[in-house]
Amino acid sequence: MHRMERDTSHLQDPAIVWFRNDLRIQDNEALVSGAQHGSVIPVYIRQTDGLARAQGAARDWWLHHSLASLSLSLDRLGTPLILLSGDPADLIPELVRTTGASAVYWNRRYDPAFQAADSALKAELQAQDLIAESFAGQLLHEPTRLRTDSGTFYKVYSPFWRALEPDVENRQPLDAPESLTLYANLSGLPGEPLDSWGLLPTRPDWSGGLAEAWTPGETGAHERLSDFIEDRMQGYDDRRDIPGVDATSGLSPHLATGEITPAQIFEALKSTENDAAPADRTKFRKEVGWREFAWHLLVNNPALPEKNHNPRFDDFPWLDNSKSLDAWQKGLTGYPVVDAGMRQLWQTGWMHNRVRMIVASFLTKHLLIDWRKGEDWFWDTLVDADPASNAASWQWVAGSGADAAPYFRIFNPVLQGEKFDAEGDYVRRFIPELAQMPKKFIHKPWAAPEQVLAAAGVRLGDTYPHPIVDHKLARDRALAAYQQIKEAA
Ligand code: FAD
Repeated sequence: MHRMERDTSHLQDPAIVWFRNDLRIQDNEALVSGAQHGSVIPVYIRQTDGLARAQGAARDWWLHHSLASLSLSLDRLGTPLILLSGDPADLIPELVRTTGASAVYWNRRYDPAFQAADSALKAELQAQDLIAESFAGQLLHEPTRLRTDSGTFYKVYSPFWRALEPDVENRQPLDAPESLTLYANLSGLPGEPLDSWGLLPTRPDWSGGLAEAWTPGETGAHERLSDFIEDRMQGYDDRRDIPGVDATSGLSPHLATGEITPAQIFEALKSTENDAAPADRTKFRKEVGWREFAWHLLVNNPALPEKNHNPRFDDFPWLDNSKSLDAWQKGLTGYPVVDAGMRQLWQTGWMHNRVRMIVASFLTKHLLIDWRKGEDWFWDTLVDADPASNAASWQWVAGSGADAAPYFRIFNPVLQGEKFDAEGDYVRRFIPELAQMPKKFIHKPWAAPEQVLAAAGVRLGDTYPHPIVDHKLARDRALAAYQQIKEAA
């Protein structure tokens, strides 16, 4: 990697390495720069400046374990991670003053909420003749630089990926530093114990399902990547749409926390070039590309999580129905594939992509509930909650987004279930009360004869709900609502 010649006169001064959503020691240019500078003070700040959207409890659980894992890795390299709470605009300059640090390094985060504050802090530090440098890593492209021939940002995925793909392998991931030099006056520095942040649920501790499903932290991320490449990537192109099989990588929460970088994923994929089927590899690369595209859309349209990309939807007649919203959130809509998805989300903090599309379509079309309410629930409950992918995907399904699915394409939850969960394995796993239903009726229990229901131990309206809306009526109502905004336009 090309590196600028550095002024080495500062070598005795420490460098602050400010960790944010890059909780890893490998492929971390800020950390490598700190290690080359001199002694290193690694710091993570729990921001209380009101800039960040409060994250949900599942993400908090993840963050706790991810920080514990990072802390351990840094200890092994020779220096502890310092945890602070407050406003980085005050805390970083304060830490510079106390330690005499001559450099502050961080990896860029692209959330629009932080852009102005990060730039202002950088300018302030540089104005004091300090080194303040930020690096890429979270993404494979710089969203403000990649442009169409007419100079605008990309709003359609395929040309975006065509423009980006030739460059994605140019970046060689960096190794972790072999060791870090400990800052001598460490004992004089402030710091908070991780447990004092109360990120883990206690009364009650509902995190058992999360702990069973996930191993947060950099080591867990790399194990997941290599398991995926060795055992599950074969057949990804066909099987990635089947929620009942474990056929996708499960890397999304690790990417959201920056425990692994897309560059590391692409590098690892190179080793599969001789044995993995090209279609599987190509498809997987493209999916990682969707994450890049979502960030491209968010950075270039910071209102994406709040405002319809297509303003025609501003007049959409959404319904304010808290009873339906509640049934959807709890997985009690009476449509098994929808309910299985919502319960998978609640139990494990994650939901299969195909089912995310089905439940999002159901909320916005069958229930006519504003996509922002769904985005919010996902934000609260997903371990991979990501401001870009979440907002872009919700708008995509709702029809209001850039390059969106047309609104009139309304998923039939029964047919979707029968197509992608043909044996009903997924539904049975997450809806135990339907476990004994035969395959023929697993996606439409209301159509089963009484004796079939009785044999399966299902009492509709008692052990499992009747459908909260009729598919045909809901579809007609959604199409009429769409027609209304079309005509108004
Ligand atoms: P894999 O199939 O193994 O894909 C590899 C990686 O590619 C993923 O980890 C992810 O980073 C990226 N990716 C795959 N599909 C998409 C996609 N459609 N859009 C963007 N990136 C993608 N993903 C999030 O990371 N955070 C979210 O908050 C989020 N919210 C979503 C909301 C809705 C309504 C929908 C329909 C999708 C959402 N997604 C979100 C995208 C997608 O569902 C998840 O990224 C995927 O299910 C993660 O599982 P995986 O890591 O096994 O994916």
